[in-house]
Amino acid sequence: MLPTVPVSPIRLDDYIEPAGEDVVKRLRKAAEPFKGARVLHINSTAFGGGVSELLLTHLGLMRDLGIEANWQLIQGSEEFFAATKAAHNGLQGADIPWTAHMEQVYMERMRANAPDVDGSYDFYVIHDPQPLGLLEVIQEQRRREGKWIWRCHIDTSSPNPKIWDYFAPKVNLYDAVIFTMKDFEQPQVSVPKVAFISPTIDPLSMKNVYLDPDTSYAVLRHYGIDRHRPIATQVSRFDPWKDPLGVIDAYRIVKKEWPQLQLVLVGSLAHDDPQGWQYLEATEEYRRGDDDIHLLTNFEHVGNLEVNAFQRSSTVIVQKSLREGFGLVVSEGMWKKKVVVGGNVGGIRLQLSDGETGFLVDSVDECADRIGRVLSDPGLRYRIGNAALERVRGEFLSLRELEDYLTLMESLR
Ligand code: UDP
Repeated sequence: MLPTVPVSPIRLDDYIEPAGEDVVKRLRKAAEPFKGARVLHINSTAFGGGVSELLLTHLGLMRDLGIEANWQLIQGSEEFFAATKAAHNGLQGADIPWTAHMEQVYMERMRANAPDVDGSYDFYVIHDPQPLGLLEVIQEQRRREGKWIWRCHIDTSSPNPKIWDYFAPKVNLYDAVIFTMKDFEQPQVSVPKVAFISPTIDPLSMKNVYLDPDTSYAVLRHYGIDRHRPIATQVSRFDPWKDPLGVIDAYRIVKKEWPQLQLVLVGSLAHDDPQGWQYLEATEEYRRGDDDIHLLTNFEHVGNLEVNAFQRSSTVIVQKSLREGFGLVVSEGMWKKKVVVGGNVGGIRLQLSDGETGFLVDSVDECADRIGRVLSDPGLRYRIGNAALERVRGEFLSLRELEDYLTLMESLR
């Protein structure tokens, strides 16, 4: 069997307060036909990035609804993760080589993992390109059981054709595919069912739950951040698509007018992301010893509570992505009534209505300009912050996503 990720229990009733009683009732009803059903989610890492973040809540809630849900991990290798990271970047449009050797490495791992996939589930949800090819191998090796859903979390609005052409036939073996939004759908996808389901955040996770200011201040103090001075924060993997260097450029422009400004750049390093280390070093070099740029990682014990405290204490949240599947961090900031200045790309556009629930920017200059506006206008922070919270409450809390999944599963039965 593939290794199983432990998941803590979650009580759906606890969500009545943040999400509303109607939403909880609707979800219970949608889950009724699935009592006792078995659902297996498979991805490649239990830590780092949005997918692992989502699954913890998703699995906990499914179990509370009487669904036997599990989360298991495929076993990769350094070479495999280098290839799948290239595939990820290529599917987001990067012009990078995709070689016969990479295909070999990829399929070798699929063949090694496939026999360990338990065949007794009713539904399989396969996340992203890393485990995507499992189904092809399973079909060659044994009778295919259950319904198979491929959940693509990445921004495939303009993929590198060579890489998409490699993966498309594997995708087309599935019963259903989930994209985050319509813009990411590709014409080569011909599966019985295509669904558009955006990710969501868990209002009760350690990352999003209410923290009293004293706790947040204690965290800031611990990391040497001054709570009396303005703070701009970007939380994201060290990855060129997240553009941390662009964020530093924007900060340097704003800093001329706001010399007190501090920039907090928080990034986790996941074991399936070999590029992360390299990019962390590049960011560190770009910082050029500026003490007001706080570059922090999970290795300095920046976990969910700390991220929560940084987001909550920020004057402005930045997510200057150049491509973005969704950007959970955007909803995380909005839920904390913050103005998020986000790249005008992918899933960020689902969350931020420019000037209403945040700001969308297309360049470093625009990013600097909007950060400056947010810093100088408390009224704007109040107005947009409140609208942002309500947008997330209505559209981007976990229960909605789970209901969408159940609707899709129902359509496959
Ligand atoms: N995250 C974190 N610590 C970090 C970097 C990221 O906890 O140092 C979390 C972040 O709060 C969010 C998730 O990882 O919940 C990233 O998801 P997102 O959709 O923003 O981006 P992805 O990494 O999936 O591209």
